[in-house]
Amino acid sequence: MGRDLSARLKAVRAQLYRERLENRRRNELFSAAIRTNDLREVGAQLYRYFFEYFGVNRGDITILTDYDEREFYDRVGWMPRRRLPSISWYRGQAERHRAYLGGLLEEQIFIGYTAESEKIIRDSLFLEASMLECMITKRPRIVNNVVRELSMEEIAQARHQETRSWMNWTVLHPDNSKVLAKMHMSFSKPRQPALKKLTERLLPFADLLRYRILHTRDFRRAKYLSERDALTGFFLRPILAKRWEHALEGAGRGGGVVSVAMLDLDHFKRFNDRYGHDVGDAVLKRFAQTVQATLRVSDVVGRYGGEEFVALFPGASSEAVRSILQRVHARLREADFMPASARARGAASERLRFSAGILTVKPGRRGGLPSFDEAIKAADELLLLCKASGRNCCAFRGRGGAVRRHRFA
Ligand code: GH3
Ligand code: MG
Ligand code: MG
Repeated sequence: MGRDLSARLKAVRAQLYRERLENRRRNELFSAAIRTNDLREVGAQLYRYFFEYFGVNRGDITILTDYDEREFYDRVGWMPRRRLPSISWYRGQAERHRAYLGGLLEEQIFIGYTAESEKIIRDSLFLEASMLECMITKRPRIVNNVVRELSMEEIAQARHQETRSWMNWTVLHPDNSKVLAKMHMSFSKPRQPALKKLTERLLPFADLLRYRILHTRDFRRAKYLSERDALTGFFLRPILAKRWEHALEGAGRGGGVVSVAMLDLDHFKRFNDRYGHDVGDAVLKRFAQTVQATLRVSDVVGRYGGEEFVALFPGASSEAVRSILQRVHARLREADFMPASARARGAASERLRFSAGILTVKPGRRGGLPSFDEAIKAADELLLLCKASGRNCCAFRGRGGAVRRHRFA
């Protein structure tokens, strides 16, 4: 009797100890994950935990973006409240919706895969079919024994991945139950059917992942909004100034040049005066899109003031910038800047033109480098020369400092 009791006490103590240890690890994981702002790191931490506690072999986390449930159901032709589709339905649909599902990927984190097997997964319909299934059922799904439960094709693939059982599970938005992420875990041994237990243990991790995804999105959004102008999406002045410093540093190291161009739209006021400020705003937006589409990704564009823009071109000479701006000019000529709503009110098509002053700096030359404000001032002076000589042109300094003007053709 006494012996029985002490054995039971021992077992209870051992259980408590295990739980405490597990809690401590979990807390450590949570606080580490809260410190980092990187979803990849969170994914890796989660798996470290899974490897240890559930014997996970490998897995991946698929984070979804722009997931609109109604649009999604429309596309796949499935109605909520209807009976859940069959496995073969998912496979057929996945093929049709591959591009669409792929377009919803915000981030995909693979853990424990070789580059080769990662590619196989990316290329296979498997992933899409299972993603589709999770998005519709919004329930965890466990395959306890791959060999008994799957098709020949899937078994072959699972063998390649050394997978004997797996689990898929979704993370939902707390407010609207939209699918935020899907998680896949694969095990190298078959499992007992223990879906309930496994999902219970997974809940804290679903919470953590949900928190991280939402937090990271908020963080990215806030960063984006704080750095950019709302109308055009271009950088604000303080960011431009920082980028100018970076560009100079980079050019200093690499022995290259940096150019800065100050752009001002020609007779822009007439858009406002003739058609109203809403049309003026729409024109500015289209202009911004045209510029963005013409420049390289390494170029940096900012909105300096109302209809004045600053662009930084690392590695480009004044001549190179001139030809880039000529391309912008050509694209503006092709685009119709009048919004349909304005044309409906009888507005005619209008050409949009601009003038620009370009300054090129080569770090390493004798003499100090211009600060951002100094560079802007110099580019602005060149811009004013263009405005004084008929507009629709750009100006820069050639050899010996002589001003060269180029009218856009
Ligand atoms: P210029 O060729 O000399 O540059 O002529 P301009 O008409 O473009 O003259 P200026 O650059 O002095 O005037 C800019 C005008 O741009 C004044 C203002 O009404 C308009 N503007 C500035 N910011 C905005 C904006 O955000 N939205 C709209 N709709 N108009 C703006
Ligand atoms: Mg202006
Ligand atoms: Mg202007």
